[in-house]
Order: sequence, then structure tokens, then C-alpha cells
Amino acid sequence: MPAPRRLVLALCAILACTATAWGVAPEYVIEISVDGLGGTYLGKIFNGTATGGPYAVPNFTRLKTEGASTLAAHCDNNNWETLPNHVSILTGRPRDNSPGFDGHNWTGNGDPAVGQTLHTNKPPYVASVFDVAHDNGLRTGMYANKSKFSLFDTSYNATNGAQDNISPNYGRDKIDNTYIDTALGGVVVDTFIAQQKSGSPNRYSFVHINEPDANGHGSGWGSATWNQSVVTVDGMLGKIFQMIQDVPAMRNNTAIILTADHGNQDNPPTGADRYQVPFFVWGPGVTAGADLYALNNGQNGAAMRKVAANYPMTTYAGDQPIRNAEASNLALDLLDLGPIPGSTFDYSQTLVVPEPATMSLLALGALAMLRRRR
Ligand SMILES: [Zn+2]
Repeated sequence: MPAPRRLVLALCAILACTATAWGVAPEYVIEISVDGLGGTYLGKIFNGTATGGPYAVPNFTRLKTEGASTLAAHCDNNNWETLPNHVSILTGRPRDNSPGFDGHNWTGNGDPAVGQTLHTNKPPYVASVFDVAHDNGLRTGMYANKSKFSLFDTSYNATNGAQDNISPNYGRDKIDNTYIDTALGGVVVDTFIAQQKSGSPNRYSFVHINEPDANGHGSGWGSATWNQSVVTVDGMLGKIFQMIQDVPAMRNNTAIILTADHGNQDNPPTGADRYQVPFFVWGPGVTAGADLYALNNGQNGAAMRKVAANYPMTTYAGDQPIRNAEASNLALDLLDLGPIPGSTFDYSQTLVVPEPATMSLLALGALAMLRRRR
């Protein structure tokens, strides 16, 4: 074999090993919001002090032990309701639209009026994670457990979605598959799984699960009934893990980001019980068992994040906690796509989920070559 060819093969072997060790960008991302899943309450389930427990949550535990996570992310500073926070999660903006903020400005928590969109309410246009994924040719889907999520379907449909100015033109309808069903029990998750097992799976999916919110309002956050509803959600996560294993294209090629819109809405004993939410990241290349705050300590190009000293945070200046609204720019980062235009949270896409210290220069070089090749 000629020497140059041997050299190329050796380099390829090194690149393959390094790329595998570090993890290549996943081609599928599943972003999950578990409505009302307060971080302090999930913490009690994890540490065995939850009322009526102990409870087995093997799939939340798997997200924690195999992924990077925190139970102390923060929702919007000025809002602990479902729809404003979900607009933040999907657009990467705060709610507050006062001068200097450029927030999404959606303050209502009811079903939107007919024809009302995020864009007519702000205006101008409020771009979302669906815009970026769709315009770059990725199939997108939204599976929601409350009727108010029609806001996103209406805002990003073939009439109200923005023009796709990235060639080729995939059109204005940014959400390829939309499914909204208010029934509890996992029909939303089952419908999502059926899509992923079909011949045309979504590359970016948003899945909203309502059990803890419904049971929180009905029986109280942290009650035995509420805790049991988290166990029910854990079973849904198990189905999603199994689906990832069952679909060859998704196996070892899928990331999960799981967060929540808010904690206890009704009678929180502490501010943390209302404003603290979990943030889990799982998938290829994610540092197993890592604390997201330890990874994002401002070193080696990583983001600087600090657990909130008080709940709620009263400013978006200075040291900031990890936010539920960072989920979508992280999702796009994992998919090797840029941030949502006009967004604030993790716009720089510096929130990291692998441990930066393990990224050797060789690995970075290999990654750069792999990314150029795609
Ligand atoms: Zn909610």
C-alpha cells in the first residue's frame, strides 16, 4: 500500500475513534416539556422524601445518570404560567417586552382568539425553533396536551409562518406534524412515537405532557397523587427510550432535552417551589451524570451559569441561572444549526453538555472535518 494511502487510513481511524469518543451531533432531537414539573418536587422523588414514597422513576433516573442535568433551572422571571413560558421555551425570548428586552410579549394563558398570532400580538414576526429547523430542511413536529398550543399551529402555519429565505424553499408552514389532544394518559406521546416509527420521522420534535400540572391543580403539588402522576410520566419516557432503541436511524443518534414551564402554581411554600424547573439533556456526547452548572462555569468557552440566589430572579443582567427557555437554542445547537433569530436565551449557543476539558484539539479538528463534510 502506498505511504500516502496508509497515512489517510491511519488518520481516518484516529478520526473515527475520536469522533466516537466525543460523540457526533445527533440527527434527531426530542424536546419535552412536562407541564408543572417543579424541580424541588422532582428532587424529593429522587431522594426518597416525597409524600407516599418511595417512588420508582427509572427513566427520569436514566436521564440523570446517563445525561447532564439540573433540578434548579429557572422559568421566566415575571411569569409562572403555561403559555407565556412555552412561548419562551419555543422562541428563546423572555416574556417581558418593555424597552430593552425584546421579549415575545405573549402575556395571556388562555386559548388564543381566532386568528390571533404571536406576530400580530408583538409585532413584528416572532421566530421559533420550528422556523430554523424547518427552513433548514428538517421535518418538525409538535405534540401538545393543552388546547392553547393552537397558538403555535396558527402562528407558524402556511399563512402566518415567515417566508423560507434559505434555498431550497420549504414554504411557510414551519410545523410539519401537529397533534393537540387534551386527554391525559399518554395519547400525545403514543401519537408522537407512531410518527417516529413511520417512514417519515421528525428530526426536531416538541412534546408537551400535562399530567403533573393537571394533578397539581387537582390534588396539590407534592401530594401522593401528584407524585404518582410523575411515575406515570416516567412510563411515557420509558416508551420514548424504547422507541429510540427500536428505530435504527434514531439509535445512538437522538438527543432528549426535558424541562418544564413552571412548578407549583397554586400555593408554593417557597419561591423555588414555583420558579424552579428541571433541565435534562441526554444523548450522544453528553457527559453522563454531569451537573449542568458544573459544566457551564464560564471555563473553556462554556456558558457561565449560576443557580439563582433568590426565587424569582428579578433581573436578566449579571449572573444567570440555566433557563427553561434555553432548551430550543440548545436543541438547534445539537442539530448543528444556528440560533433562533431574535432570541435571547443561549443565543450564543455556548451552553455545553459535554465536558469541555475532554474535548481535545484533535477531537475538535475531527468534528470540524465531519461538520464540513455534511
Ligand atoms: Zn403549565
